Amino acid sequence: MIHEKTIKREVSFSGVGLHSGKRVNMRLVPASAGTGIVFKRTDLGSAYIPVCAAEVLSTFYATTIGINGVHVQTVEHLLSALYAFSIDNLLIELDGEEVPIADGSCAPFIDLLFEAGAVNQEKESMVLQIVAPLTIVNGDKKISLFPVAHESLEISYTIAYQHPLIAKSSYTYLHSQDAFIKEIASARTFGFLKDIKQLLAKGYAKGGSLENAIVVGEDKILNQEQLRFEDEFVRHKVLDLIGDIALLGMRVIGRIEAYHAGHQLHTELIKTLRNNETAFRIIPASNAVCALSSLHCSL
Ligand SMILES: [Zn+2]
Repeated sequence: MIHEKTIKREVSFSGVGLHSGKRVNMRLVPASAGTGIVFKRTDLGSAYIPVCAAEVLSTFYATTIGINGVHVQTVEHLLSALYAFSIDNLLIELDGEEVPIADGSCAPFIDLLFEAGAVNQEKESMVLQIVAPLTIVNGDKKISLFPVAHESLEISYTIAYQHPLIAKSSYTYLHSQDAFIKEIASARTFGFLKDIKQLLAKGYAKGGSLENAIVVGEDKILNQEQLRFEDEFVRHKVLDLIGDIALLGMRVIGRIEAYHAGHQLHTELIKTLRNNETAFRIIPASNAVCALSSLHCSL
């Protein structure tokens, strides 16, 4: 049997929020089997936001979730790292409204999770297996889900910006913890210099800097640290997508094809999937491989 997991020991991390600009202290605390991933706003007393039950409140330059009037912003990079480590149960305490942006990637959260360690729990881990295709189109943006003949998450992501430094780029990824750490975790978030004034005027990106985001100018990257991968931008989109998929509260077996998508389309896909019970089934993780043989017949 494949067990649910939590972390072995408490760990803490502090840093600025990308949009709020405020310093936030975060503490990751082990949680019992069946709890799920739950945010706790310690600045608001005992305000809990279970990831599974929360609504997506905004997808403007980050994913914001909330419930009962309490929200938490920019959850996607941390959730992506937790997905990679197969952490099912965790309490995330924050003394502010936003998860720290760290260096704009998942790498500092990966280090934190290695420090915390993982431990198996007594409950069997469940996975969500895609059994029928699903597509969402919004103008020139598109995202689709398909069944697969293996037991992991596969992503094929294409970005297409009207910009000479990014233009069109694709990345195909087969998820595993090792692959995530090697290929995805250190890809940083990015923004265009031309958009920053407008973002600041709207009250966003107040904590943004060259230390936590790649800033793309008209014809060059403004950061002293150059790109970590030639295709760092599209790799970061894969990171974001995994973080948004984590809102489902369990690992996914399927293939996602995303074209020019973003948080809005990612979270629309999740919402549509949740409401479309014929497109998936929930099975014990250890049965996934066995279940594939019967699925093959219906593909
Ligand atoms: Zn991101």
